[in-house]
Amino acid sequence: MVSFYPGPSRVHDQVPKWVKAAHKKGILSMNHRSPEFVDLSKKTIALLKRKLKIPNEYMIFFVSSATECWEVIAQSLVKTKSFHLYNGAFGEKWFDYTQRLRPDTQSMPFDPEKELTPGELALNEGDVICITQNETSNGTEVRNKIIAAVRKNNPNQLLAVDATSSMAGIFLNFQSADIWFASVQKCFGLPAGLAVMACSPRAILQMQVIGEKNHYNSLSLMKEMMDKWQTSYTPNVLGIYLLKCALKSMNKIVQVDQKITRRQKVWIRFFHGSKNLHLLIANPQVRSKTVLALKGSTRLIEVIKAVARKNGMLLGEGYGSLRKETFRIANFPAIKKKEITRLMSVLQAYR
Ligand SMILES: *Cc1c(COP(=O)(O)O)cnc(C)c1O
Repeated sequence: MVSFYPGPSRVHDQVPKWVKAAHKKGILSMNHRSPEFVDLSKKTIALLKRKLKIPNEYMIFFVSSATECWEVIAQSLVKTKSFHLYNGAFGEKWFDYTQRLRPDTQSMPFDPEKELTPGELALNEGDVICITQNETSNGTEVRNKIIAAVRKNNPNQLLAVDATSSMAGIFLNFQSADIWFASVQKCFGLPAGLAVMACSPRAILQMQVIGEKNHYNSLSLMKEMMDKWQTSYTPNVLGIYLLKCALKSMNKIVQVDQKITRRQKVWIRFFHGSKNLHLLIANPQVRSKTVLALKGSTRLIEVIKAVARKNGMLLGEGYGSLRKETFRIANFPAIKKKEITRLMSVLQAYR
């Protein structure tokens, strides 16, 4: 079964080979305080920075999930409240979780069809501004230049970006925000259970000023350990090893970005002029490169999902309130061209 679900999604073909190698090398029972682990951690972080073009001065942390990153940010980087800009279910969930820990937290939902207008967004509120770069639920994105403009108009706050379904798939300008995070079961093409978080020196400074130390995943404790290339708990060592392997075999991010952008255009052309299926998002300026959301009748969508499944392909369900009238297609790097062609030939009859 080829999974076009936008996470967990199709993993790289080499994953079984890498797992075997990990077993042979003793990675599966590696001690997380050993010099071998330190070496693995160091190398993985160096590769991550090099391949994704993350500035050298940013600090990388290993965590378990993107959801954990929401919690870490709320605990350790938000003193009183954060400010959440969102247009879909994941951004809203992030706001929800943060609100439970920091009840004064504010939000500004926006129309999924509209580009954010940073000129109107000089927010004098909150310690951290939170943006979901790629909203996996509805297939929209906030472009690099908009994130940079939000940052420019809000010099006093930290900017945190959830890039869970785009990091390692498209080029992200890490310099324009302070906190970036993603779990690996989306564009990285790996099994779930690991996420990475990158923090700017400003973010580290804010963490130190706030000085929150009450949790195993308090950022201050995470930093103390990461200064020694380690984690505060036993991490997903196999996951880190697989991440290292995937990064090693990965092309330059600008090349990956070109491939993803090209494939997105092919998908859009495919659905253009379709009678029965429409892209959920009409505005090309805000459409995600890595997740396509399609709208159609409930009946047709049921049929399409069933036929795809019979042909060995798993489509993404609609998410949240969009569950019945939409389905989603991941446009992640690990998916092969011939698999896309096969899915298109199955969908052809129902367009
Ligand atoms: C998948 C996803 C998450 C949740 O990721 P987990 O690893 O399950 O915590 C958060 N944000 C976005 C945008 C996502 O696509």
